[in-house]
Amino acid sequence: MVSIHSKWRYFFMFLGIQLVVMALLSREGYQKRVSYFIRIFRKPDTTLQSGRNHTAAGIPGGDVYANLSHLSKTHSHANDMPYCPKTSPLIGGPIHVSFPSGLTLADVQKKNPMVVRGGRYRPPDCEARHRTAIIIPHRHREHHLKFLLYYLHPFLQRQQLHYGIYVIHQAGNYTFNRAKLMNVGFREAMREEEWDCLFFHDVDLIPEDDRNTYICDSNPKHAAIAMDKFGYKLPYKMYFGGVSALTPLHYLKMNGFPNNYWGWGGEDDDIGVRVSLAGMYITRPSLKVGRYKMIKHKLDKGNDVNPKRFNMLAKTRTTWKLDGMNTAEYETISREYLPLYTNITVNIGTEAGLHPPPPTRPPPAKAEGKPEVKVSAKAEGKPAEVQAKGPAKLIEGPSVI
Ligand code: UDP
Ligand code: MN
Repeated sequence: MVSIHSKWRYFFMFLGIQLVVMALLSREGYQKRVSYFIRIFRKPDTTLQSGRNHTAAGIPGGDVYANLSHLSKTHSHANDMPYCPKTSPLIGGPIHVSFPSGLTLADVQKKNPMVVRGGRYRPPDCEARHRTAIIIPHRHREHHLKFLLYYLHPFLQRQQLHYGIYVIHQAGNYTFNRAKLMNVGFREAMREEEWDCLFFHDVDLIPEDDRNTYICDSNPKHAAIAMDKFGYKLPYKMYFGGVSALTPLHYLKMNGFPNNYWGWGGEDDDIGVRVSLAGMYITRPSLKVGRYKMIKHKLDKGNDVNPKRFNMLAKTRTTWKLDGMNTAEYETISREYLPLYTNITVNIGTEAGLHPPPPTRPPPAKAEGKPEVKVSAKAEGKPAEVQAKGPAKLIEGPSVI
């Protein structure tokens, strides 16, 4: 009798220990390990096409390539095609976004057989109601670009848009200038097609819901209202960064974007202020729909924080008509019609103009009284718009419509 009791005691002790170990394991990512093993037995591609997953807010997110497989190249762009429906039947809502390693541009190309040279697309079975150009300012972010293209192409196809993707690549190593690259993008895209809407799009922001339609509103639209890095909230009311959408008329009405913000920060706020100075206001999608995931990164080399940004911002009211689309000067170095996008490489110069004089050598140690400071001040002091002597200007003054 006694021995049976002690056997039971040992049995319950063993069971208790097992329970404690299991509880600890599940806290320490046991579930992660189980799902890892399950994934091993799935098809290799399923990390990208994981059907139903959950976004940060717990909303189920679908595969961005779902719904597209039935579209076929066999449709011709006949003249008598009906207009696409006002709301695309291909739209599916939340999208699962992840950044698996091993993805290549060739994979993206294979998954987008209907995209043609230069990154253009038109719905094969209906006449698109909207023509949208995507403008992406870029330098040394090829890794991000690959992911953006992976998600953006099917996202736009699901919206039944006629679209084109332009990457505006800043040549050289001089300080980055995001807003000036947008001016270049506007001008270069508009000279190719009559786009009715331009989306100015950071390379590292991936839309997470395809109900966030890439079409323009009657006023400039700020699309990236809810980014993961700001806790899916708008950081402040006038924020206009990340992704924004303007018609050509909106763009010219506010004289485009500023050319003189070199380095990180300030230019997006300047653009936001320009919207209201030009008599327009900012529209936005809902927080539920305007969601974006930003690919994590550090501040880039060649894009240091711009210390002048607050002083410049304080003057936007007096500078917006003098600096912008009407003074954007640059040299196109190359234009490549790649399978997934049009790449335009440009020289946008520096604060000292398109062809700044080479840095002056310091005077020899012996030479006295030559004020070194004066020499460099001469080269730096002039405002870019006075110095630049490049290709013709697009418009001759801020066109107020
Ligand atoms: N960018 C780039 N190369 C650089 C710096 C910036 O391509 O060296 C572009 C890129 O499109 C990026 C955008 O400028 O998404 C905004 O810069 P960043 O991501 O540093 O700003 P954030 O919004 O993350 O503060
Ligand atoms: Mn970023």
